[in-house]
This record gives sequence, structure tokens and C-alpha cells, in this order.
Amino acid sequence: MDSGLACPVHADIELTRGVERASDQFFGIGDAYAYKRCDACGALVLDPRPSPSEIGPFYAGYYTEDTLAQLERRAAAGKRVGIAGRLRALGTVRRLTKLGVELGPGKKLLDVGCGLGGFARYMRQFGGVDARGVDFSPECAAFAKKVHEVDVDVGELADQDYPEGSLDFITSWHYLEHVYDPAAEIERMARLLKPGGWFIAETPTNDVLAKLFGRHWLYLMPPTHLYHYRPATMRALVEQAGLEVMHVARPWFPGELAGSLTFAAGVRGFVPKVFSPNRSALLTLGFFAQMVYDVPVTLLLAMLGRSGLMRVYARKPA
Ligand SMILES: [Zn+2]
Repeated sequence: MDSGLACPVHADIELTRGVERASDQFFGIGDAYAYKRCDACGALVLDPRPSPSEIGPFYAGYYTEDTLAQLERRAAAGKRVGIAGRLRALGTVRRLTKLGVELGPGKKLLDVGCGLGGFARYMRQFGGVDARGVDFSPECAAFAKKVHEVDVDVGELADQDYPEGSLDFITSWHYLEHVYDPAAEIERMARLLKPGGWFIAETPTNDVLAKLFGRHWLYLMPPTHLYHYRPATMRALVEQAGLEVMHVARPWFPGELAGSLTFAAGVRGFVPKVFSPNRSALLTLGFFAQMVYDVPVTLLLAMLGRSGLMRVYARKPA
């Protein structure tokens, strides 16, 4: 275990008590964890945390063999897979177009922590860009190639030898909350961008529902979520890397309230069961019935700029 950590931006400020007695409720593994809080920016820091050599088993529940096999069968049957990636790509293309950014053939995009490759596939489809991914999971890389025809380099970003200044877009979806050294990671991404290139990242952010639910907040997810950033934290990290923040969105995604309430009620491992391709009809009905109250509340929070997600668009000066 590593301990005695600091805010990735405010290294000289001593962290205070944040969220205590948090457990992994997503996959039903792991003991009690604590997040400490940075009083300067509001970021949460998992402390103590598993060291890089200890974290591996906690990722075993992310994409199981069963899930991948089931998704492959769906794709082979002509059904759509990668719906989250598709929505993210549509939103990204729309936002970049609004920001006056040119997309199209010849533009190079790298999706870091690309998972199953859906986002890269749909950025190629909707934005016309040349998109590839990097991910530490060989199983995900094989799936991305087979199902989405996306090339994925296996390993950490730091292990790759991409030339500096070679990319037009670097994207990461729910990746930066998992990295041990976010400042170094964002600096690495910034170096790979061409002058005028774009950095786009989405992470959870601890806001209204995080405060309300504390250790039962849906996106808390210890021990794989090592940090939760506030917009001020992310802005500082991005600016430290020499990038200019051009837009910060607070996207809407349903389930933050329903999932948090379900955890607070003591049900463990509910969300992965709901998203499993083998879910029971009763479970599906139970979850979707909760959308009756979840959707209005989470939609309102997003409209007020207080959802539990944050999406940052930043540019490398030309
Ligand atoms: Zn801070």
C-alpha cells in the first residue's frame, strides 16, 4: 500500500478527512478505503491505496471473458455494440465543430485507455479521423480489432514510442481517475500533441450527489478510482501541462442517483449485473423503473452544471 499522498495540484497542502469506510460496491471486492480531501480545490485522493503491483486483481471485474464473448456474439449478429462510445463520439464531434475545429481524413486521434475501442471506431465513422487506441488489456485490444477494426497498442501510454508532436487529438474517457500520476500523464499527452492539437478528457467529479451519498456515491469506486477531480483541479493540471482550457462540459448520464441509492440500500454489485449481457429480466425492470425519478433529477443537475461528470476540451497553443 502507498500512503501519505497529496493533491496532484496542491502538493504542499495537507489533506483533510474526506470519505471514510468506502468499499468497492461495484464488483463486491476489497475492504474499507478512505479518500482524503484537498481543501484548496476539493479533490479526493484515495489514501492509502494499492500500489501498482497490487492493483491488478481489482481490474478483473471490468470486462470479464463472459461479457466479451457475449458482446462479440451480439456484434456478429449485426447488433450495435459500443453505445457509450457512439454517444461520446457524437458529442465530441458536435462540440469540436462548435469550437471551429476541423475534422476529417489525415487527422490523427489516439484514445488512451480505450477499453473495447468503441469511441475510436465511431470517431472514425462520424469525424472521419484516423483513430487508434492504447490500453493495458490485451483482451480489450483483441476485441477492438475484431469487432470495431480499431488498432490498439497494448500497454501503458508511457511504454509506447509515439513521436512527440504527432497527434491532432488525444482523448481519454474515464481514464485519468485511474492513473497514479495524473500530472505526469497529462504532460505526456500534451507532448504528443501537435501545436494546435486537442486534449479531451472525461472523468467523474465529486459534486452534489457525491456530497449527499458520501461513501455510497456511485462513481466513488475504490480502489480503482485513485482520484476524484473538481473542475478547478482539472483546469490546473491541464494548464500546468501547457494546454489552454477551451470548454468544460458537465454531461448528463442517467443512473448516478439510482445507483447511489441502490448502494446506500446495501445492495452490492448491482450495476455490473444490470450492464451484464446475461442480466435477468426482473433486474432490468427493477433498474429501469428507477429511471422514473433518476432521469429528472440527474438531468436537472446536468443542466445546473452539477452532474457527477466533467468533460474538458483543451488546446495546445499553435
Ligand atoms: Zn487540490
